[in-house]
Amino acid sequence: MKTPKKKLQIKDFGSDDTVLSPLEPGDLELLRDEKEPPKFKQIKPEILEKYDFSLDGFSALSLPIPKTKEEEEAIVNGFLSGLEKLFQKENNWGFLMPTTLSNEFCMQCNTCNEACPIYVESDRKDIYRPNFRPEVLRRIIKRYFSTSGKLLGKWVGADLDLNWRVVYHLAELVYRCTLCRRCASVCPIGVDNALISRELRKMFSMEMGIAPENVHKSGTVQHMKSGSSTGMTPPAFLDTIEFIEDLIEEKTGRRMKIPIDKQGADILLIHNAGEYMAWPENPAAFAIIFEAAGLNWTLSSAAMGYEGVNYGVWYDDVQFARIAMAQVQAAKDLGVKKIVVGECGHATKALITIADRMLVGDMAIPREPCLPLLEQIVTSGVIKFDRMKNNFPVTLHDPCNMVRLMGIIDPQRTILEHVVAPGQFREMPHAGTNNVCCGGGSGFAITNAHNFPDWRNNVASRTKAKQVLEAFKDVLDPSIPKYYCAPCSNCKGAARDALIEHFGFKEKYNIIYNGLVELIVNAMVDMPHPFITWEDEF
Ligand code: SF4
Ligand code: SF4
Repeated sequence: MKTPKKKLQIKDFGSDDTVLSPLEPGDLELLRDEKEPPKFKQIKPEILEKYDFSLDGFSALSLPIPKTKEEEEAIVNGFLSGLEKLFQKENNWGFLMPTTLSNEFCMQCNTCNEACPIYVESDRKDIYRPNFRPEVLRRIIKRYFSTSGKLLGKWVGADLDLNWRVVYHLAELVYRCTLCRRCASVCPIGVDNALISRELRKMFSMEMGIAPENVHKSGTVQHMKSGSSTGMTPPAFLDTIEFIEDLIEEKTGRRMKIPIDKQGADILLIHNAGEYMAWPENPAAFAIIFEAAGLNWTLSSAAMGYEGVNYGVWYDDVQFARIAMAQVQAAKDLGVKKIVVGECGHATKALITIADRMLVGDMAIPREPCLPLLEQIVTSGVIKFDRMKNNFPVTLHDPCNMVRLMGIIDPQRTILEHVVAPGQFREMPHAGTNNVCCGGGSGFAITNAHNFPDWRNNVASRTKAKQVLEAFKDVLDPSIPKYYCAPCSNCKGAARDALIEHFGFKEKYNIIYNGLVELIVNAMVDMPHPFITWEDEF
C-alpha cells in the first residue's frame, strides 16, 4: 500500500493510492468509557477485488471496479454528461439557482469546517471538510467546461484531471455528508455545501444509476412497488393497525377504533411507516392523543398514503416527485382539509417544504408538521397531565430537518415543560438550530453496505453520543433511568444502532430513547398504566 500524503491536495483526488485518505480507529477521540479504539469490520479480499473502497476504506455504494479501459471511459463520460445537465435549467428544475450560487461564491474562508461533526470526529481529515467536495467540483467544472481551463489547465487552477477514480471518490464522498446543513448555517455568505452534496447525489442517481442500495432499490423502488419503503402493503398495513389497537387496549384498558380512510376528515396523519414496524407505540400514542383531544382525523390505507417516508429528498428528484404526488393524491382522494406529518424529520422536510416547489393548483393541500399541533393540544387544557409521571431525566435531540431547516424549536420544549417533572429536563450542548445530527441523516441510518455502519456509528454519530453523555453527566449511574427524546423516526434508528447497540448506553447507563408523543401519553392523568416502561426492548 502506498503511504497517503498527510495534506491531501485536490489535484491528487484521483490518485491510485490503495486508499486515498484512510480512516483508522486510532483517529477517533474515545468516549469517556471506551477503553480502546473500536475495531472496524475486515472486508474479505474477494469483496475488495470487486468493489471500490479506495476513498477512505469504506463503501456506501458498492461501486464495481471497472475491468477495462472502455468501462473506465464510460464512467468518466457519464459523469461529464451528467454534470453538464446539472447546471442547465432545462434539465434541473429543482435547485438550480442556489446550487449555482453556492458553487460560484465560496471564498475559501474555512469558517464552515469546525461546524462539521464528520470533519471534526475524523481527526480533521481533509476529504471530509464541508468545502472540499465543492472545491473538487469547481476544479472539474473549470477544467472541462471553461475555455481558460481547457486551454491553460493547471495555470489557471484547473489542475484536476478526471479519471474513474475521481468520479468514484466523489460519489462515495457525497455519502460522507449527512446533509445536516450545520456548515451552511455558519457560512458568512450563505453558501450551502450540503446542497452541493445533495445535487451531486442526484446527478449520480439520475444520470449514472449510482445510489446506495438500501436507499434506492430496497427504499424508493420498493416504496413505489409495495406502497411503503418497508415493503408493507395495504393489507399488511390494515393488519398492523389492528395490532396497534391491541397495544392501545393493553396500555389503556379500553378498545379504540383507529380511523382509517375517513372521508372529509380535518386531518390526514401520515407517519414514517418504519414506526409501525419498529416503534408501534409511537403511532399508538398519536392515536391516544388525537382521540383524547377530540380531533377529526384519519389515516389512509391507500398505497403510499400511509407512508410518510420520501427518500428521494436525499438523492433523486424524480423519485422524490413520484412519492410526494402519491402522498398528496391520497389526501385529495379522502377530501381532507390538511396533512399532518408525524415524528419524522426528513418526511416533514420533503412533504412540507421541498414539495412546495411542485405542488401547485389543487395539489397544494395544506401540510403541517406535527409538533406545533401537539403543542396546541398539550397547552389547550383539553387533556390533563401529571408531570410527576415523567419523573426521570430527559434530554431532547433536535432533528436537523425540523429545527435547523424549518425553525421548529419551541413547540417541543413547551410540551416538555408541561409533561416532564420539574428539574428533570436538560438541554444537550448546542441545542436548537446549532444542533448536531444524530449521524443517521440523509439515509445513513438505513445504509448498511459492507463496513459502512462502522463509519456511521463511529464517525457520524460520535458527537451525538458525546452530547448525550454530557447532558446526563450528573445522573449517569445506571440505577437512574434516563430518556433520550428524539422526535424523528430516522434519528431513533440512529439512536438504536449507535447509542444503544454500538456504544451500549442502555446497558451501561440505563438510557433509553423514544419519541415525544410517548412522553405526552405517559403523563396523561387518565392512563391506568405507564406507557413507557424501561423493560421494553430498545
Ligand atoms: S452538511 Fe453537515 S455533514 Fe455535510 S459537510 Fe455540512 S456540516 Fe458536514
Ligand atoms: S462555504 Fe462559506 S464558510 Fe465555508 S469556506 Fe466557503 S465561504 Fe467560507
